[in-house]
Amino acid sequence: MTKTSTTIGADWGYAPAPESADHFQLKDHYGLFIGGKFVPAVSGKRFKTINPANEKVIAEVADGGEKDVDKAVKAARTAFDKVWRKMSGRERGKYLYRIARIIQERARELAVVESMDGGKPIRESRDVDIPLAAAHFFYHAGWADKLGYAFPGKSVSPIGVAGQIIPWNFPLLMVAWKVAPALACGNTVVLKPAETTPLTALLFAEICQEAGLPEGVFNLVTGAGATGAALVNHPGLDKVAFTGSTEVGKAIQRSLAGRGTKLTLELGGKAAHIIFEDATIDQAVEGIINGIYFNQGHVCCAGSRLLVQESVEEEVVTKLKARMESLIVGDPLDKNTDIGAINSKAQCDRIRDYLKIGEEEGAELFQTQCSVPEKGYWIRPSFFTKVAQSHRIVQEEIFGPVLAIQTFRTLNEALEKANNTPYGLSGGVWTDKGAKIFKVTRGIRAGVIWANTFNKFDPTSPFGGYKESGYGREGGRHGLRPYVELS
Ligand code: NDP
Repeated sequence: MTKTSTTIGADWGYAPAPESADHFQLKDHYGLFIGGKFVPAVSGKRFKTINPANEKVIAEVADGGEKDVDKAVKAARTAFDKVWRKMSGRERGKYLYRIARIIQERARELAVVESMDGGKPIRESRDVDIPLAAAHFFYHAGWADKLGYAFPGKSVSPIGVAGQIIPWNFPLLMVAWKVAPALACGNTVVLKPAETTPLTALLFAEICQEAGLPEGVFNLVTGAGATGAALVNHPGLDKVAFTGSTEVGKAIQRSLAGRGTKLTLELGGKAAHIIFEDATIDQAVEGIINGIYFNQGHVCCAGSRLLVQESVEEEVVTKLKARMESLIVGDPLDKNTDIGAINSKAQCDRIRDYLKIGEEEGAELFQTQCSVPEKGYWIRPSFFTKVAQSHRIVQEEIFGPVLAIQTFRTLNEALEKANNTPYGLSGGVWTDKGAKIFKVTRGIRAGVIWANTFNKFDPTSPFGGYKESGYGREGGRHGLRPYVELS
């Protein structure tokens, strides 16, 4: 008989291991960061940013409007014309290295603030988000004086002022993905972070001050969707870069039509995660967990559609259930926590709606039994079986810890189901056979495909989608292209 797990007994558990938040001091309120200074919004308005794990207000943040966006774009233009475009790549690179090093120095503070403001487990902020944000600045610092090698035989120049809009799922990491290549290539930036997670972007503005970045090179305008729309509609931008929902991406595309402003879009996804019968099932189950429950499933490239070969479905589902029951859901600041809080009430409601829709469509819902805190926004790790390709829970991005499980018999059937989606951002395959890996990676129309692993990121590796997942790439040499003019 094979033993699959050890039963320790109900009285055994992890003692709390909270990360402390007393090693830094947040301000009561934050201004916009324009022209190298923190300033209030012209309207004087502010909004509150709350901790989604306990619904407590963390700080108030300036609510930027059209006039603020205008000031920020003008500051970015002046910095571009007078300082940044004229500076040698070698000098620009020094600032990026400095920013990278300060992110490392302030890593603990940034990780705690990221978890407080967004709800993600401290283990993920500490081990993934913040180190990767620093890595993106180190990587792009290296490119700043070597752009001629990135585009051999071409003369390389910056584009100008970039307006960048980012979502709430990886707040500081998205700052890094957007800002590092833009600055390395000689552009200046106006950034709009998400309304629910502005704090690490504000700390990043402090880091720019600390690094002595020339004023106006990086500007930050906090606010909600209307602030993002004001930025997109500002005629002074040369380039817009957006990460977020496909719906808003399409609206931005419409606003920019005919204006000649360059655009890159990194939008939603509904990745197929394919498990063949010859895969190492225990490792594949870990991959499934990482694919869909990492960051509460708030991941555009999440493996949210599981395609399991029929012969191993029962084994995979049984092992998956057992593994899911061991996931610890709760306080994001506890170092044992696997799954933190859902980022906002609105997102929690949206996920709950999808759970209801799935059941109404006839699918079978499994949720773990774990207890969740009374305050805050929580969804237990969940999956649906008995789903059909046409179900909304299979076709639409849920952006939460909810997996849809389907089966297949042949490789071609798996590919057909995998590609039956409006999205094309990512995918995954688990198999013992190299030839199958190549067939799957060539057969799925998606920008990133992981083999025998999932959700691995690296600044040297380009990331981006096809179809309704957007266009343009971030990271690697490909990620420099949207920020340069070549002649
Ligand atoms: P949005 O696309 O609305 O948010 C992304 C960013 O765009 C935020 O900074 C947002 O501001 C801003 N924004 C909103 N409206 C506009 C606009 N008209 N013009 C310019 N900028 C705008 O995502 P949501 O937060 O509403 O999430 C909804 C769904 O989108 C999720 O359930 C998920 O499915 C998907 N999503 C996908 C992401 C991805 O990485 N692919 C990331 C986030 C969401 P603000 O948040 O302050 O309103």
